[in-house]
Amino acid sequence: MSSGKLNTTLVSAGRKSEYCKGSVNSVIQRASSIVFDSVAQKKVATKHRGERELFYGRRGTLTHFAFQDAMTELEGGAGCVLYPCGAAAIANSMLSFVKTGDHVLMTGGAYEPTQAFCDTILADMGIATTYYDPMKGADIGALVKPETSVVFLESPSSITMEVPDIPAIVKAVRAVNPEVVIMIDNTWAAGILFKALEHDIDISIQAGTKYIVGHSDAMIGTAVANARTWERLRERSYLMGQMVDADTAYMASRGLRTLGVRLKQHQENSIAVAQWLSARPEVARVNHPALPESAGHENYQRDFSGSCGLFSFVLKEKLTDEQVANYLDNFTHFSMAYSWGGYESLVLANQPEELNAIRPVGPVDFSGTLVRLHIGLEDVEDLIADLEAGFERLK
Ligand SMILES: *Cc1c(COP(=O)(O)O)cnc(C)c1O
Repeated sequence: MSSGKLNTTLVSAGRKSEYCKGSVNSVIQRASSIVFDSVAQKKVATKHRGERELFYGRRGTLTHFAFQDAMTELEGGAGCVLYPCGAAAIANSMLSFVKTGDHVLMTGGAYEPTQAFCDTILADMGIATTYYDPMKGADIGALVKPETSVVFLESPSSITMEVPDIPAIVKAVRAVNPEVVIMIDNTWAAGILFKALEHDIDISIQAGTKYIVGHSDAMIGTAVANARTWERLRERSYLMGQMVDADTAYMASRGLRTLGVRLKQHQENSIAVAQWLSARPEVARVNHPALPESAGHENYQRDFSGSCGLFSFVLKEKLTDEQVANYLDNFTHFSMAYSWGGYESLVLANQPEELNAIRPVGPVDFSGTLVRLHIGLEDVEDLIADLEAGFERLK
């Protein structure tokens, strides 16, 4: 498929006639067994079972192939493995490249379950994890050991939203050992605002649950790998039984078609809200990568082509439990929920000590309550009025 510019690619990627059979979208092919016409055909299918050849449901059907092709094209990789959720994509990508005795370098700004996976499952397997400070990226070379097999990045950092200097981190790691497999949780960028594989990262992982699905109604994980890592990721993930159902793969493909316009609006709305917040007397700082006051803003400017709807801000004061409840319980347009990336606005709050507990390096440098917002596709004026009423409740 010839690629155009981004929005053209989002509309066209994966829509081959063999997957669509005359319709605009791919067919939904639900299958466990794939029926072979002959021994000869079974032989061909077996030989090419990793490569777009119908073989067995766990290897994917036309619906999966369509979405995998689209993701591979969008992120510029050699192939895409699908998982039942983002957490499965992270865990199985790492498990595909580690063995007992190995060492993993994990960003201290990682999504909390990613850290917990290292601290429990990898630790039990005899795989050690060192957390690095994502904002001291160039120093990472000193942490790379002979047994380091995986370096894991996430940008921006979860919740606190710092944008690391990824080119410096990648360069420092490769200078010590070019063979290390470098992975990134690229969910915030939806795989398109930051082109991971163009930055010499081997595997770009996403919770497609967020912006790709875009409507908070399905879960899927994706990992797009470069040529060097693709076959091993595919085969090991397959052995660990990783797959998603055809209906969900279809939902993810459909989500891609509007990803460009949705992200553009999420960006516009979130920057407007972030700028309004940054002028409020109650707010100590706004952690939105597109705002100059946000940590790593210069890295964002250099490496990202835009932002999404997820950011956080820190209040000057630490709220009491009653204040937190009164603040969060009474919004009109902001729902309180984990996850993000849907069309609707969401809010959560964290106290600094809760954040410190999940920050193994680079403890948080603020004392007020942090509020995380996902800015949806509502009218910004309504969201701002809602947030303004929230500040009134804190008085
Ligand atoms: C939500 C999320 C995940 C996990 O995705 P699930 O589909 O919920 O398993 C991983 N990383 C980040 C950054 C996320 O926000």
